[in-house]
Amino acid sequence: MSDVICGIDLGTTNSCLALLRDGRPEPVIIEEGSAIVPSIVSFDDSTGQIIVGRKALNRFAAFPHHTVRSIKRLMGKETSVKLGERSYSPEQISSFILSYLATAGAVVIGSEIRRVVITVPAYFNEAQRRATIKAGELAGLEVIRIINEPTAASLLYENFEDEDSGEEGDSSCILVYDLGGGTFDVSILEVKGEIKEVLASCGDSALGGDDFDERLIAFLIRHIREKYGHDFSDDLDRALHSRLKAVAEQTKITLSDAPYARISEVAVTVVNGEPVNLDLEISRREYEEMIADLVEQTMEKVGEALREAHLESDDIGRIILVGGSTRTPLVLERLEQLFQRTVSFSVDPDLCVALGASIQHGLITGESVGHILIDVTAHSLGVKTNDSHDPETGDADYFSRIIRRNTAIPVRKAEVYYTNYDNQDLVQVEVFQGESDSCRENSLIGAFPYPLKPAPSGSSVVAEFAYDKEGLIHITLEQKGYDNRKEVTLDTRTTQVTERNDAAAEGKITNYMVSKGRKLAQQSNAPEKMRDELSTLLDEYVAALESGDDEELIDSLEERLLELMDEIEEAVSGE
Ligand code: AMP
Repeated sequence: MSDVICGIDLGTTNSCLALLRDGRPEPVIIEEGSAIVPSIVSFDDSTGQIIVGRKALNRFAAFPHHTVRSIKRLMGKETSVKLGERSYSPEQISSFILSYLATAGAVVIGSEIRRVVITVPAYFNEAQRRATIKAGELAGLEVIRIINEPTAASLLYENFEDEDSGEEGDSSCILVYDLGGGTFDVSILEVKGEIKEVLASCGDSALGGDDFDERLIAFLIRHIREKYGHDFSDDLDRALHSRLKAVAEQTKITLSDAPYARISEVAVTVVNGEPVNLDLEISRREYEEMIADLVEQTMEKVGEALREAHLESDDIGRIILVGGSTRTPLVLERLEQLFQRTVSFSVDPDLCVALGASIQHGLITGESVGHILIDVTAHSLGVKTNDSHDPETGDADYFSRIIRRNTAIPVRKAEVYYTNYDNQDLVQVEVFQGESDSCRENSLIGAFPYPLKPAPSGSSVVAEFAYDKEGLIHITLEQKGYDNRKEVTLDTRTTQVTERNDAAAEGKITNYMVSKGRKLAQQSNAPEKMRDELSTLLDEYVAALESGDDEELIDSLEERLLELMDEIEEAVSGE
Protein backbone atom coordinates (compact mmCIF):
# COMPACT_ATOMS: atom_id res chain seq x y z
CA MET A 1 0.00 0.00 0.00
CA SER A 2 1.42 3.41 -0.90
CA ASP A 3 2.19 5.82 1.88
CA VAL A 4 -0.31 8.45 2.91
CA ILE A 5 1.12 11.85 2.01
CA CYS A 6 0.46 14.32 4.73
CA GLY A 7 1.67 17.41 6.49
CA ILE A 8 1.23 18.66 10.04
CA ASP A 9 1.07 22.23 11.26
CA LEU A 10 2.07 21.86 14.92
CA GLY A 11 0.92 25.24 16.18
CA THR A 12 1.14 27.10 19.49
CA THR A 13 -2.65 27.44 19.83
CA ASN A 14 -3.98 24.97 17.27
CA SER A 15 -2.65 22.18 15.10
CA CYS A 16 -3.87 20.73 11.85
CA LEU A 17 -3.31 17.65 9.70
CA ALA A 18 -3.62 17.79 5.92
CA LEU A 19 -3.50 15.11 3.29
CA LEU A 20 -2.55 15.14 -0.38
CA ARG A 21 -5.23 13.21 -2.24
CA ASP A 22 -4.98 12.82 -6.03
CA GLY A 23 -2.49 15.67 -6.08
CA ARG A 24 -4.74 18.04 -4.14
CA PRO A 25 -4.21 19.01 -0.51
CA GLU A 26 -7.16 18.75 1.82
CA PRO A 27 -7.56 19.26 5.56
CA VAL A 28 -8.47 16.19 7.62
CA ILE A 29 -11.60 16.86 9.64
CA ILE A 30 -10.80 15.36 13.01
CA GLU A 31 -13.00 16.97 15.64
CA GLU A 32 -16.59 18.20 15.53
CA GLY A 33 -16.53 19.01 11.85
CA SER A 34 -13.26 20.92 12.16
CA ALA A 35 -9.72 20.25 11.02
CA ILE A 36 -8.40 22.63 13.67
CA VAL A 37 -7.33 20.82 16.82
CA PRO A 38 -6.43 22.86 19.94
CA SER A 39 -2.77 22.18 20.87
CA ILE A 40 -3.79 21.31 24.42
CA VAL A 41 -2.96 18.20 26.44
CA SER A 42 -4.64 17.12 29.66
CA PHE A 43 -4.12 14.19 32.02
CA ASP A 44 -7.18 12.49 33.43
CA ASP A 45 -6.34 11.21 36.93
CA SER A 46 -9.43 9.05 37.15
CA THR A 47 -8.67 7.02 34.00
CA GLY A 48 -4.93 7.60 33.76
CA GLN A 49 -5.42 8.73 30.17
CA ILE A 50 -3.88 11.54 28.16
CA ILE A 51 -6.51 13.72 26.47
CA VAL A 52 -5.72 16.00 23.52
CA GLY A 53 -7.56 18.69 21.55
CA ARG A 54 -11.03 20.10 22.15
CA LYS A 55 -11.74 17.72 25.04
CA ALA A 56 -8.52 18.88 26.73
CA LEU A 57 -9.54 22.50 26.11
CA ASN A 58 -12.86 21.83 27.84
CA ARG A 59 -10.98 20.52 30.87
CA PHE A 60 -8.71 23.54 31.10
CA ALA A 61 -10.88 25.62 33.45
CA ALA A 62 -11.73 22.73 35.78
CA PHE A 63 -8.31 20.98 35.81
CA PRO A 64 -5.70 23.67 35.24
CA HIS A 65 -2.94 21.68 36.97
CA HIS A 66 -3.57 18.66 34.80
CA THR A 67 -3.73 20.58 31.52
CA VAL A 68 -1.04 22.24 29.41
CA ARG A 69 -1.30 24.64 26.49
CA SER A 70 1.19 26.53 24.27
CA ILE A 71 3.87 23.85 24.74
CA LYS A 72 5.46 25.02 21.49
CA ARG A 73 6.91 27.97 23.38
CA LEU A 74 9.07 25.55 25.41
CA MET A 75 10.31 23.38 22.54
CA GLY A 76 14.11 23.01 22.55
CA LYS A 77 14.40 24.01 26.22
CA GLU A 78 15.78 21.74 28.92
CA THR A 79 12.70 21.90 31.06
CA SER A 80 9.71 19.87 32.07
CA VAL A 81 6.03 20.51 32.71
CA LYS A 82 3.82 18.81 35.24
CA LEU A 83 0.58 17.14 34.39
CA GLY A 84 -0.82 16.12 37.75
CA GLU A 85 1.89 14.16 39.54
CA ARG A 86 3.98 13.37 36.47
CA SER A 87 6.57 15.48 34.67
CA TYR A 88 7.00 15.53 30.90
CA SER A 89 9.48 17.13 28.53
CA PRO A 90 8.11 19.58 25.92
CA GLU A 91 8.92 16.96 23.24
CA GLN A 92 6.79 14.39 25.05
CA ILE A 93 3.83 16.78 25.35
CA SER A 94 4.16 17.68 21.65
CA SER A 95 4.36 13.99 20.80
CA PHE A 96 0.93 13.49 22.42
CA ILE A 97 -0.50 16.09 20.05
CA LEU A 98 1.20 14.55 17.01
CA SER A 99 0.14 11.07 18.01
CA TYR A 100 -3.47 12.20 18.43
CA LEU A 101 -3.47 13.86 15.00
CA ALA A 102 -1.99 10.77 13.37
CA THR A 103 -4.27 8.23 15.03
CA ALA A 104 -7.49 10.25 14.84
CA GLY A 105 -6.57 11.25 11.25
CA ALA A 106 -5.95 7.61 10.31
CA VAL A 107 -9.45 6.69 11.48
CA VAL A 108 -10.94 9.48 9.33
CA ILE A 109 -9.00 8.65 6.16
CA GLY A 110 -8.98 4.90 6.67
CA SER A 111 -5.19 4.44 6.31
CA GLU A 112 -2.31 4.38 8.70
CA ILE A 113 -0.20 7.56 8.88
CA ARG A 114 3.52 6.89 9.30
CA ARG A 115 5.57 9.50 7.43
CA VAL A 116 4.96 13.20 7.83
CA VAL A 117 6.28 16.68 7.07
CA ILE A 118 6.03 18.98 10.10
CA THR A 119 6.20 22.76 9.99
CA VAL A 120 8.05 25.07 12.40
CA PRO A 121 8.38 28.87 12.59
CA ALA A 122 11.14 30.34 10.42
CA TYR A 123 12.86 31.67 13.55
CA PHE A 124 13.13 28.20 15.22
CA ASN A 125 16.78 27.38 15.99
CA GLU A 126 18.47 24.02 15.59
CA ALA A 127 17.55 22.84 19.09
CA GLN A 128 13.89 23.69 18.53
CA ARG A 129 13.89 21.90 15.16
CA ARG A 130 15.56 18.84 16.66
CA ALA A 131 13.04 18.80 19.49
CA THR A 132 10.24 18.82 16.90
CA ILE A 133 11.75 15.83 15.09
CA LYS A 134 12.11 14.06 18.44
CA ALA A 135 8.44 14.74 19.22
CA GLY A 136 7.52 13.12 15.90
CA GLU A 137 9.66 10.06 16.69
CA LEU A 138 8.16 9.71 20.17
CA ALA A 139 4.77 9.70 18.45
CA GLY A 140 5.93 6.77 16.29
CA LEU A 141 6.17 8.90 13.14
CA GLU A 142 8.96 9.29 10.64
CA VAL A 143 9.54 13.00 10.16
CA ILE A 144 10.75 13.15 6.57
CA ARG A 145 11.24 16.89 6.66
CA ILE A 146 10.85 19.93 8.87
CA ILE A 147 9.89 23.00 6.85
CA ASN A 148 9.33 26.63 7.72
CA GLU A 149 5.71 27.67 8.17
CA PRO A 150 5.94 30.64 5.75
CA THR A 151 7.52 28.37 3.15
CA ALA A 152 4.65 25.90 3.52
CA ALA A 153 2.11 28.71 3.13
CA SER A 154 3.87 30.00 0.02
CA LEU A 155 3.92 26.50 -1.51
CA LEU A 156 0.19 26.36 -1.22
CA TYR A 157 -0.31 29.70 -2.91
CA GLU A 158 2.06 28.73 -5.70
CA ASN A 159 -0.28 25.91 -6.54
CA PHE A 160 -3.39 27.97 -6.18
CA GLU A 161 -5.49 28.41 -9.30
CA ASP A 162 -5.18 32.14 -9.46
CA GLU A 163 -4.19 33.51 -12.80
CA ASP A 164 -4.94 37.09 -11.94
CA SER A 165 -3.86 37.53 -8.36
CA GLY A 166 -4.63 41.23 -8.48
CA GLU A 167 -1.38 41.88 -6.71
CA GLU A 168 1.52 43.98 -7.83
CA GLY A 169 5.25 44.22 -7.61
CA ASP A 170 8.13 41.85 -8.13
CA SER A 171 6.45 38.48 -7.76
CA SER A 172 9.64 36.74 -6.64
CA CYS A 173 9.31 38.25 -3.15
CA ILE A 174 6.58 37.04 -0.87
CA LEU A 175 5.62 38.44 2.51
CA VAL A 176 3.95 36.04 4.92
CA TYR A 177 2.05 37.79 7.72
CA ASP A 178 1.17 35.21 10.38
CA LEU A 179 -0.95 36.35 13.31
CA GLY A 180 -2.13 33.44 15.40
CA GLY A 181 -3.51 33.12 18.92
CA GLY A 182 -0.31 33.74 20.87
CA THR A 183 2.38 34.64 18.36
CA PHE A 184 3.04 36.97 15.47
CA ASP A 185 5.57 36.25 12.73
CA VAL A 186 6.37 38.08 9.56
CA SER A 187 8.69 36.57 6.98
CA ILE A 188 9.90 37.67 3.60
CA LEU A 189 10.82 34.93 1.16
CA GLU A 190 12.56 35.16 -2.16
CA VAL A 191 11.56 32.49 -4.63
CA LYS A 192 14.35 31.31 -6.91
CA GLY A 193 12.84 28.39 -8.78
CA GLU A 194 12.46 25.52 -6.34
CA ILE A 195 14.41 27.34 -3.64
CA LYS A 196 12.79 29.72 -1.26
CA GLU A 197 15.21 31.80 0.67
CA VAL A 198 14.07 33.48 3.87
CA LEU A 199 15.30 37.07 3.48
CA ALA A 200 13.93 38.27 6.78
CA SER A 201 11.97 36.89 9.65
CA CYS A 202 10.84 38.71 12.75
CA GLY A 203 7.89 38.91 15.04
CA ASP A 204 6.72 38.87 18.60
CA SER A 205 6.35 35.55 20.38
CA ALA A 206 3.94 37.09 22.88
CA LEU A 207 1.49 38.88 20.60
CA GLY A 208 -1.64 37.47 19.03
CA GLY A 209 -5.38 36.99 19.19
CA ASP A 210 -5.16 36.14 22.91
CA ASP A 211 -4.12 39.76 23.53
CA PHE A 212 -7.16 40.96 21.58
CA ASP A 213 -9.28 38.79 23.89
CA GLU A 214 -7.57 40.31 26.93
CA ARG A 215 -8.51 43.82 25.78
CA LEU A 216 -12.14 42.74 25.52
CA ILE A 217 -11.94 41.06 28.94
CA ALA A 218 -10.65 44.33 30.45
CA PHE A 219 -13.57 46.13 28.78
CA LEU A 220 -16.05 43.64 30.29
CA ILE A 221 -14.47 44.04 33.72
CA ARG A 222 -14.89 47.84 33.44
CA HIS A 223 -18.50 47.29 32.43
CA ILE A 224 -19.10 45.03 35.46
CA ARG A 225 -17.45 47.62 37.73
CA GLU A 226 -19.70 50.39 36.42
CA LYS A 227 -22.85 48.31 36.63
CA TYR A 228 -22.26 46.26 39.79
CA GLY A 229 -19.75 48.42 41.67
CA HIS A 230 -17.16 45.66 42.05
CA ASP A 231 -13.73 45.79 40.46
CA PHE A 232 -12.49 42.37 39.40
CA SER A 233 -9.28 43.61 37.80
CA ASP A 234 -7.23 42.58 40.84
CA ASP A 235 -9.12 39.46 41.89
CA LEU A 236 -9.94 37.81 38.60
CA ASP A 237 -10.02 34.12 39.44
CA ARG A 238 -9.36 31.47 36.85
CA ALA A 239 -13.02 30.46 36.50
CA LEU A 240 -14.22 34.01 35.80
CA HIS A 241 -11.29 34.69 33.49
CA SER A 242 -12.00 31.56 31.52
CA ARG A 243 -15.73 32.44 31.24
CA LEU A 244 -14.95 36.01 30.12
CA LYS A 245 -12.31 34.72 27.71
CA ALA A 246 -14.90 32.53 25.96
CA VAL A 247 -17.28 35.52 25.72
CA ALA A 248 -14.47 37.79 24.49
CA GLU A 249 -13.31 35.37 21.81
CA GLN A 250 -16.83 34.82 20.50
CA THR A 251 -17.43 38.59 20.44
CA LYS A 252 -14.17 39.16 18.59
CA ILE A 253 -15.05 36.54 15.98
CA THR A 254 -18.52 38.04 15.48
CA LEU A 255 -16.98 41.48 15.00
CA SER A 256 -14.80 40.15 12.19
CA ASP A 257 -17.93 39.68 10.09
CA ALA A 258 -20.40 42.16 11.53
CA PRO A 259 -20.29 45.79 12.68
CA TYR A 260 -21.94 45.03 16.05
CA ALA A 261 -21.90 42.13 18.50
CA ARG A 262 -24.45 41.51 21.23
CA ILE A 263 -23.13 40.07 24.48
CA SER A 264 -25.77 38.30 26.48
CA GLU A 265 -24.53 36.09 29.31
CA VAL A 266 -26.27 35.07 32.48
CA ALA A 267 -24.50 34.77 35.86
CA VAL A 268 -20.87 35.06 34.82
CA THR A 269 -20.07 35.51 38.51
CA VAL A 270 -21.64 36.70 41.75
CA VAL A 271 -21.30 40.07 43.52
CA ASN A 272 -22.77 40.46 47.04
CA GLY A 273 -24.87 37.37 46.50
CA GLU A 274 -26.30 38.77 43.24
CA PRO A 275 -25.61 37.15 39.85
CA VAL A 276 -23.69 39.32 37.40
CA ASN A 277 -25.39 39.29 34.01
CA LEU A 278 -23.90 40.75 30.86
CA ASP A 279 -26.26 42.36 28.41
CA LEU A 280 -24.59 44.87 26.17
CA GLU A 281 -23.65 45.63 22.62
CA ILE A 282 -20.25 46.52 21.33
CA SER A 283 -19.43 47.98 17.93
CA ARG A 284 -16.52 47.00 15.73
CA ARG A 285 -15.35 50.60 15.94
CA GLU A 286 -15.10 50.45 19.76
CA TYR A 287 -13.30 47.11 19.56
CA GLU A 288 -10.87 48.40 16.94
CA GLU A 289 -9.93 51.29 19.21
CA MET A 290 -9.09 48.75 21.94
CA ILE A 291 -6.73 46.73 19.74
CA ALA A 292 -5.34 49.44 17.45
CA ASP A 293 -1.98 49.68 19.25
CA LEU A 294 -1.51 45.89 19.09
CA VAL A 295 -2.20 45.82 15.35
CA GLU A 296 0.17 48.77 15.00
CA GLN A 297 2.95 46.77 16.69
CA THR A 298 2.60 44.11 13.98
CA MET A 299 2.84 46.77 11.28
CA GLU A 300 6.07 48.03 12.84
CA LYS A 301 7.45 44.50 12.62
CA VAL A 302 6.45 44.37 8.95
CA GLY A 303 8.49 47.54 8.44
CA GLU A 304 11.38 45.97 10.32
CA ALA A 305 11.26 42.84 8.11
CA LEU A 306 11.24 45.00 4.96
CA ARG A 307 14.27 46.93 6.20
CA GLU A 308 16.07 43.72 7.13
CA ALA A 309 15.46 42.36 3.62
CA HIS A 310 16.49 45.74 2.08
CA LEU A 311 13.16 45.96 0.30
CA GLU A 312 10.43 48.56 -0.16
CA SER A 313 6.77 47.68 0.14
CA ASP A 314 6.47 47.87 -3.68
CA ASP A 315 9.04 45.08 -4.04
CA ILE A 316 6.68 42.57 -2.44
CA GLY A 317 4.79 40.56 -5.05
CA ARG A 318 2.42 38.62 -2.90
CA ILE A 319 1.16 39.01 0.64
CA ILE A 320 0.06 35.77 2.26
CA LEU A 321 -2.09 35.79 5.36
CA VAL A 322 -1.71 33.00 7.88
CA GLY A 323 -3.27 32.49 11.32
CA GLY A 324 -6.82 32.91 12.59
CA SER A 325 -6.33 36.49 13.77
CA THR A 326 -5.73 37.73 10.21
CA ARG A 327 -9.53 37.56 9.83
CA THR A 328 -9.64 40.78 11.90
CA PRO A 329 -10.74 43.50 9.43
CA LEU A 330 -8.43 46.10 11.00
CA VAL A 331 -5.43 43.91 10.16
CA LEU A 332 -6.39 43.81 6.48
CA GLU A 333 -7.15 47.52 6.47
CA ARG A 334 -3.75 48.44 7.91
CA LEU A 335 -1.90 46.09 5.55
CA GLU A 336 -3.77 47.60 2.61
CA GLN A 337 -2.76 51.08 3.72
CA LEU A 338 0.84 50.01 4.12
CA PHE A 339 1.10 48.20 0.80
CA GLN A 340 -1.34 50.38 -1.16
CA ARG A 341 -3.21 47.43 -2.64
CA THR A 342 -6.04 45.04 -1.94
CA VAL A 343 -5.03 42.26 0.42
CA SER A 344 -7.14 39.14 0.66
CA PHE A 345 -6.87 35.45 1.41
CA SER A 346 -8.04 32.67 -0.85
CA VAL A 347 -7.42 29.86 1.58
CA ASP A 348 -8.53 29.51 5.16
CA PRO A 349 -5.65 31.16 7.08
CA ASP A 350 -5.86 28.44 9.74
CA LEU A 351 -5.28 25.66 7.26
CA CYS A 352 -2.80 26.94 4.72
CA VAL A 353 0.37 25.92 6.59
CA ALA A 354 -0.77 22.29 7.00
CA LEU A 355 -2.01 22.17 3.39
CA GLY A 356 1.34 23.53 2.22
CA ALA A 357 3.18 20.93 4.32
CA SER A 358 1.26 18.15 2.56
CA ILE A 359 2.33 19.63 -0.79
CA GLN A 360 5.93 19.57 0.40
CA HIS A 361 5.50 15.90 1.26
CA GLY A 362 4.11 15.30 -2.24
CA LEU A 363 7.06 17.10 -3.83
CA ILE A 364 9.53 14.98 -1.83
CA THR A 365 7.89 11.73 -2.85
CA GLY A 366 7.56 12.82 -6.47
CA GLU A 367 3.76 13.05 -6.38
CA SER A 368 2.33 15.39 -9.00
CA VAL A 369 0.63 18.30 -7.33
CA GLY A 370 -2.39 19.69 -9.14
CA HIS A 371 -3.85 23.14 -9.02
CA ILE A 372 -5.99 23.82 -6.04
CA LEU A 373 -9.49 24.85 -6.84
CA ILE A 374 -11.35 26.57 -4.09
CA ASP A 375 -14.72 28.26 -4.37
CA VAL A 376 -13.97 31.90 -3.84
CA THR A 377 -15.62 35.13 -4.85
CA ALA A 378 -14.13 36.21 -8.15
CA HIS A 379 -14.84 39.89 -7.42
CA SER A 380 -15.38 42.08 -4.42
CA LEU A 381 -19.04 42.80 -3.70
CA GLY A 382 -20.24 45.98 -2.08
CA VAL A 383 -22.35 49.09 -2.26
CA LYS A 384 -22.01 52.65 -3.46
CA THR A 385 -21.62 55.29 -0.79
CA ASN A 386 -21.62 59.07 -0.87
CA ASP A 387 -17.92 59.27 -0.11
CA SER A 388 -15.43 60.12 -2.76
CA HIS A 389 -12.73 57.80 -4.06
CA ASP A 390 -10.92 60.71 -5.64
CA PRO A 391 -10.11 63.82 -3.59
CA GLU A 392 -9.50 65.79 -6.80
CA THR A 393 -12.90 65.32 -8.46
CA GLY A 394 -14.77 64.77 -5.19
CA ASP A 395 -17.16 62.46 -7.10
CA ALA A 396 -19.42 60.70 -4.63
CA ASP A 397 -19.27 57.16 -5.99
CA TYR A 398 -17.07 55.30 -3.53
CA PHE A 399 -17.24 51.50 -3.75
CA SER A 400 -17.48 50.19 -0.19
CA ARG A 401 -16.53 46.49 -0.15
CA ILE A 402 -18.64 44.20 2.00
CA ILE A 403 -17.27 40.88 0.72
CA ARG A 404 -13.73 40.96 -0.58
CA ARG A 405 -12.48 39.27 -3.69
CA ASN A 406 -11.09 35.76 -3.13
CA THR A 407 -13.16 35.10 -0.02
CA ALA A 408 -14.09 31.44 0.31
CA ILE A 409 -17.82 30.90 -0.23
CA PRO A 410 -20.42 30.56 1.21
CA VAL A 411 -19.76 33.69 3.22
CA ARG A 412 -21.76 36.15 5.32
CA LYS A 413 -20.42 39.65 6.06
CA ALA A 414 -21.96 42.89 7.26
CA GLU A 415 -20.97 46.55 7.35
CA VAL A 416 -22.55 49.63 8.87
CA TYR A 417 -23.44 52.86 7.04
CA TYR A 418 -24.82 56.10 8.39
CA THR A 419 -27.70 58.33 7.28
CA ASN A 420 -26.73 61.68 5.80
CA TYR A 421 -29.29 64.03 7.31
CA ASP A 422 -32.15 64.17 9.80
CA ASN A 423 -35.23 62.19 8.82
CA GLN A 424 -33.67 60.81 5.64
CA ASP A 425 -36.57 58.89 4.17
CA LEU A 426 -34.80 56.67 1.69
CA VAL A 427 -31.54 55.14 0.60
CA GLN A 428 -31.09 53.98 -2.92
CA VAL A 429 -29.03 50.83 -2.46
CA GLU A 430 -26.76 50.21 -5.44
CA VAL A 431 -24.85 46.93 -5.39
CA PHE A 432 -21.65 46.61 -7.42
CA GLN A 433 -18.97 44.04 -8.09
CA GLY A 434 -15.40 44.85 -9.05
CA GLU A 435 -12.08 45.98 -7.69
CA SER A 436 -12.01 49.73 -8.32
CA ASP A 437 -12.69 52.21 -5.53
CA SER A 438 -14.92 54.01 -8.01
CA CYS A 439 -18.32 52.39 -8.66
CA ARG A 440 -18.29 53.81 -12.19
CA GLU A 441 -15.48 51.43 -13.05
CA ASN A 442 -17.21 48.39 -11.51
CA SER A 443 -20.32 46.48 -12.66
CA LEU A 444 -23.72 47.28 -11.29
CA ILE A 445 -25.48 44.12 -10.09
CA GLY A 446 -28.71 45.75 -9.01
CA ALA A 447 -30.29 48.72 -7.29
CA PHE A 448 -33.36 49.08 -5.12
CA PRO A 449 -34.82 51.63 -2.72
CA TYR A 450 -34.80 51.12 1.03
CA PRO A 451 -37.33 53.38 2.75
CA LEU A 452 -36.18 54.61 6.15
CA LYS A 453 -38.09 55.49 9.28
CA PRO A 454 -37.54 59.05 10.58
CA ALA A 455 -34.26 59.16 12.52
CA PRO A 456 -31.52 61.67 13.30
CA SER A 457 -28.62 62.18 10.91
CA GLY A 458 -25.81 59.65 11.40
CA SER A 459 -28.05 56.80 12.51
CA SER A 460 -26.88 53.32 11.53
CA VAL A 461 -28.03 51.10 8.69
CA VAL A 462 -26.48 47.64 8.71
CA ALA A 463 -26.10 45.94 5.35
CA GLU A 464 -25.46 42.21 5.48
CA PHE A 465 -24.46 40.23 2.38
CA ALA A 466 -24.69 36.44 2.34
CA TYR A 467 -23.16 35.05 -0.84
CA ASP A 468 -23.59 31.43 -1.88
CA LYS A 469 -22.20 29.04 -4.45
CA GLU A 470 -25.15 29.66 -6.79
CA GLY A 471 -24.01 33.24 -7.21
CA LEU A 472 -26.91 34.71 -5.24
CA ILE A 473 -26.40 37.57 -2.81
CA HIS A 474 -28.98 37.62 -0.04
CA ILE A 475 -28.99 41.15 1.27
CA THR A 476 -30.49 42.14 4.60
CA LEU A 477 -30.78 45.80 5.50
CA GLU A 478 -31.59 46.88 8.98
CA GLN A 479 -32.12 50.35 10.35
CA LYS A 480 -30.69 49.81 13.79
CA GLY A 481 -33.10 50.45 16.63
CA TYR A 482 -36.07 51.22 14.33
CA ASP A 483 -37.59 47.82 13.60
CA ASN A 484 -37.11 48.35 9.89
CA ARG A 485 -35.74 45.38 7.97
CA LYS A 486 -35.69 44.58 4.33
CA GLU A 487 -34.44 41.51 2.50
CA VAL A 488 -33.51 41.43 -1.14
CA THR A 489 -31.86 38.76 -3.26
CA LEU A 490 -29.69 39.66 -6.23
CA ASP A 491 -28.37 37.22 -8.78
CA THR A 492 -24.82 38.15 -9.73
CA ARG A 493 -25.18 36.27 -13.03
CA THR A 494 -28.50 37.67 -14.25
CA THR A 495 -28.51 40.88 -12.19
CA GLN A 496 -32.09 40.08 -11.28
CA VAL A 497 -33.58 41.72 -8.20
CA THR A 498 -36.06 39.77 -6.10
CA GLU A 499 -37.54 41.79 -3.30
CA ARG A 500 -39.20 40.20 -0.35
CA ASN A 501 -41.51 41.99 2.02
CA ASP A 502 -42.89 45.52 2.25
CA ALA A 503 -44.99 47.10 -0.40
CA ALA A 504 -43.38 50.43 0.33
CA ALA A 505 -40.27 49.07 -1.31
CA GLU A 506 -42.11 49.10 -4.62
CA GLY A 507 -41.08 52.76 -4.76
CA LYS A 508 -39.62 53.80 -8.04
CA ILE A 509 -35.92 54.13 -8.49
CA THR A 510 -36.63 57.80 -9.11
CA ASN A 511 -37.07 57.98 -5.34
CA TYR A 512 -33.33 58.37 -5.37
CA MET A 513 -34.07 61.91 -6.41
CA VAL A 514 -35.77 62.49 -3.09
CA SER A 515 -32.72 61.42 -1.21
CA LYS A 516 -30.44 63.58 -3.35
CA GLY A 517 -32.92 66.49 -3.19
CA ARG A 518 -33.09 66.39 0.62
CA LYS A 519 -29.37 66.60 0.77
CA LEU A 520 -29.28 69.61 -1.55
CA ALA A 521 -32.00 71.28 0.48
CA GLN A 522 -29.67 71.05 3.49
CA GLN A 523 -26.72 72.50 1.65
CA SER A 524 -26.02 75.73 3.50
CA ASN A 525 -24.13 77.35 0.63
CA ALA A 526 -27.13 77.05 -1.74
CA PRO A 527 -29.44 80.09 -2.06
CA GLU A 528 -32.09 79.98 0.65
CA LYS A 529 -34.98 80.73 -1.71
CA MET A 530 -34.08 77.78 -3.91
CA ARG A 531 -33.68 75.49 -0.90
CA ASP A 532 -37.12 76.43 0.39
CA GLU A 533 -38.70 75.82 -3.00
CA LEU A 534 -36.90 72.47 -3.20
CA SER A 535 -38.17 71.36 0.24
CA THR A 536 -41.75 72.24 -0.67
CA LEU A 537 -41.47 70.51 -4.03
CA LEU A 538 -40.00 67.41 -2.43
CA ASP A 539 -42.86 67.20 0.07
CA GLU A 540 -45.41 67.55 -2.75
CA TYR A 541 -43.56 64.98 -4.83
CA VAL A 542 -43.38 62.41 -1.98
CA ALA A 543 -47.09 62.96 -1.24
CA ALA A 544 -47.93 62.49 -4.94
CA LEU A 545 -45.83 59.31 -5.10
CA GLU A 546 -47.50 57.93 -2.01
CA SER A 547 -51.04 58.53 -3.27
CA GLY A 548 -49.82 57.32 -6.66
CA ASP A 549 -52.98 58.19 -8.58
CA ASP A 550 -51.96 61.33 -10.43
CA GLU A 551 -49.28 60.32 -12.93
CA GLU A 552 -49.42 63.70 -14.64
CA LEU A 553 -48.77 65.58 -11.42
CA ILE A 554 -45.88 63.22 -10.57
CA ASP A 555 -44.34 63.81 -13.99
CA SER A 556 -44.60 67.59 -13.80
CA LEU A 557 -43.24 67.71 -10.24
CA GLU A 558 -40.42 65.42 -11.27
CA GLU A 559 -39.55 67.69 -14.18
CA ARG A 560 -39.43 70.81 -12.01
CA LEU A 561 -37.45 68.94 -9.32
CA LEU A 562 -34.78 67.90 -11.79
CA GLU A 563 -34.54 71.47 -13.12
CA LEU A 564 -34.31 72.97 -9.67
CA MET A 565 -31.73 70.47 -8.47
CA ASP A 566 -29.58 71.26 -11.52
CA GLU A 567 -29.94 74.97 -10.82
CA ILE A 568 -28.91 74.53 -7.18
CA GLU A 569 -25.94 72.37 -8.11
CA GLU A 570 -24.86 75.00 -10.62
CA ALA A 571 -25.28 77.80 -8.08
CA VAL A 572 -23.25 75.85 -5.51
CA SER A 573 -20.43 74.88 -7.86
CA GLY A 574 -20.24 78.41 -9.37
CA GLU A 575 -19.72 79.97 -5.98
P1 AMP B 1 -4.13 30.15 15.12
O1 AMP B 1 -3.08 30.24 16.20
O2 AMP B 1 -3.66 30.47 13.78
O3 AMP B 1 -4.92 28.88 15.17
O4 AMP B 1 -5.17 31.33 15.44
C1 AMP B 1 -5.97 31.30 16.58
C2 AMP B 1 -6.42 32.71 16.86
O5 AMP B 1 -7.24 33.18 15.81
C3 AMP B 1 -7.24 32.77 18.14
O6 AMP B 1 -6.87 33.90 18.90
C4 AMP B 1 -8.64 32.93 17.61
O7 AMP B 1 -9.48 33.59 18.54
C5 AMP B 1 -8.39 33.78 16.38
N1 AMP B 1 -9.50 33.76 15.43
C6 AMP B 1 -10.10 32.68 14.88
N2 AMP B 1 -11.11 33.06 14.06
C7 AMP B 1 -11.14 34.43 14.08
C8 AMP B 1 -11.96 35.42 13.46
N3 AMP B 1 -12.97 35.09 12.64
N4 AMP B 1 -11.69 36.72 13.72
C9 AMP B 1 -10.68 37.08 14.54
N5 AMP B 1 -9.88 36.19 15.17
C10 AMP B 1 -10.10 34.87 14.95
